[in-house]
Amino acid sequence: MAWLRAALACGLLSVAGVGFGQQQPLQAIPYSPSLDVTSLDKSVDPCVDFYKFSCGGWQKNNPIPADQASWSVYAKLAQENQQFLWGILEQDAKATGRTPVQQKVGDYFAACMNTAAIDEKGIKPLEPALQRLDAISSREQVAKALAVLHHRLAGSFFFGARVGQDATDASLEIVELGSGGLGLPDREYYLKADPKSVKLREQYVAYVTKLLGLTGEPTDEAAKDADAILKIETALAKASLTRVDRRDPHKTYHMMTVAELQGLTPAIDWPRYFTVQGAPGVEKLNVSQPEFMKAVQAELTTEPLDSLKAYLRFHLLTAAAPFLSAPFREANFDFYSKTLRGVPAMPPRWKTCTQAVDRSLGEALGQEFVARTFSPEMKAKTQLMTRQIETAMAEEIQGLDWMSPETKQEALRKLHAIRNKIGYPDKWRDYSSLEVKPDDYLRDAERAYLFEEARNWNKLGKPVDLNEWGMTPPTVNAYFNPQMNDINFPAGVLQPPLYDSKEDDAPNYGNTGATIGHELTHAFDDEGRQFDDKGNLRDWWTPADAKGFEDRIDCDRDQYARYVIVDDIHINSKLTSGEDVADLGGTLLAYIAWKKQTEGQTLHDADGFTPDQRFFVGMAQWACENDRPENLRVQAATDPHSPGFARINGVVSNMPQFAKAFGCKTGQPMVHVPACKVW
Ligand SMILES: [Zn+2]
Repeated sequence: MAWLRAALACGLLSVAGVGFGQQQPLQAIPYSPSLDVTSLDKSVDPCVDFYKFSCGGWQKNNPIPADQASWSVYAKLAQENQQFLWGILEQDAKATGRTPVQQKVGDYFAACMNTAAIDEKGIKPLEPALQRLDAISSREQVAKALAVLHHRLAGSFFFGARVGQDATDASLEIVELGSGGLGLPDREYYLKADPKSVKLREQYVAYVTKLLGLTGEPTDEAAKDADAILKIETALAKASLTRVDRRDPHKTYHMMTVAELQGLTPAIDWPRYFTVQGAPGVEKLNVSQPEFMKAVQAELTTEPLDSLKAYLRFHLLTAAAPFLSAPFREANFDFYSKTLRGVPAMPPRWKTCTQAVDRSLGEALGQEFVARTFSPEMKAKTQLMTRQIETAMAEEIQGLDWMSPETKQEALRKLHAIRNKIGYPDKWRDYSSLEVKPDDYLRDAERAYLFEEARNWNKLGKPVDLNEWGMTPPTVNAYFNPQMNDINFPAGVLQPPLYDSKEDDAPNYGNTGATIGHELTHAFDDEGRQFDDKGNLRDWWTPADAKGFEDRIDCDRDQYARYVIVDDIHINSKLTSGEDVADLGGTLLAYIAWKKQTEGQTLHDADGFTPDQRFFVGMAQWACENDRPENLRVQAATDPHSPGFARINGVVSNMPQFAKAFGCKTGQPMVHVPACKVW
């Protein structure tokens, strides 16, 4: 759902893959403590730059691996999880007497690993689809092909269609149309006139030319097509809402009848389109960006037929490139990883394939992962921590002097309705209808795509599956979904050094506790607060309370807008506001819950720190990271999360508990005056 409301179900962070590390499968996930003294840089004054103090050693000890755009504590753990899964998959690929789940994940992995077979086939597996596109001889056929492409093949063709919860009645599954159709990461890449953006567009056109050329198209024709494709995408980009606008759920909610949509976009036969998706008879839907659909109409009716065909051809190719032979894979990597994000080297194949299995068969692979890594005791402990943080949140809300009793009552009702999903789904996804073969990689990927499409369209008109997860169990990340009104913590994120059962409570509440608080706070951030206890878009705030809240988060927005990400690019704090607020609110809740949990206990100094200091160092060390400047530019445009240094320094500088723990004084950089507050 990246194209529709990505920011709604925002996770804790955007994890940027993993690194080379040891080139062996792991038999167990290596241990590193949740408070690591080797990660510190004690030459830095914690009151001047707490992030550098907590993470300076980590940054020095953990250079970015050659196949990565960035590197972080989260990415490193994700890599370790993948190395562990690699061993499982190698076994599942070869073993006899496999379970159905082991057959599917093992064969998918084997098909992906067999680059000799993939390279030998070259472009052949994609030829039937390319020939169908080549045979198109009218605009009507372009529109018809779109319906089939959307249903059967991955790719960003003009717009997206899916089934999701109705914003105003979260108990309903409805059809939603969203913007899409771009090959660059964001609309602003097409519209900015600075030299770096102009150069990047030239490099993009070169990539499009190269990819088309790899199918046998003469270079001059391919170059002409690439220009035409950029022209189409620029028109789509202009008509797309900005990421900041897409954070406003009212701006992406436009229910209309299919007849009204037909009036807006007559070039597409919509009843036929929905029939092809497997959902005949759709009458009403949310057209999240009507202006965008008008642009689609204009493109389908005014661009030369050959340009439209070239556009479809390119998007089919670029989506399939990672599953094709080496020249396609390499061209794709050269642009999207090397040029765009500054990554020098392609990841080793085992890593690509482990990620591919996780993406396509995540809840099958997840069963293998959970059985080996996530004990019932771990589940019970993190559930307890979650309940304690929810209690802290309830008490904070009750004690707010600026919020009226009516709004408090609604807020508490919403908080009590949040469902805590910890580790893995209660019921695993059933992949039995999905065929996987050990020697047919592109077809495996296509079948997995079709399986997922069918699963999604099958939801239409049925009750919402509250058991569903939006992340797979090995994932090192977490999220809150405002329409499901649930928080989700995959088993992958509840491992050391993030959750460390060998350590005492201080760094654990600082780290995982603050993450739980972060996800809970999303229920009340600029976006989440617009949804009620049932997940419906409904304004339950009195006007005065809404203003009180907005004033509070404006303080945070002003603070973060001053931080520089790279070169002269500042944080777009209207984009990051929800995450920044979740960081601040979440850390305070974790601190309160920790104090309560350890009430009456005698806590001891350790690692050269007081217990309070250890809470904060444990908190800061989840965010240690290194980034390539190219990647930081992409993140600045697309990522709703601020960079690590801002996430840590921004939070602690607003917490008097931190200043007290480290003896920081007014006037020092880590004391923000006046302090911003969420609660
Ligand atoms: Zn978040």
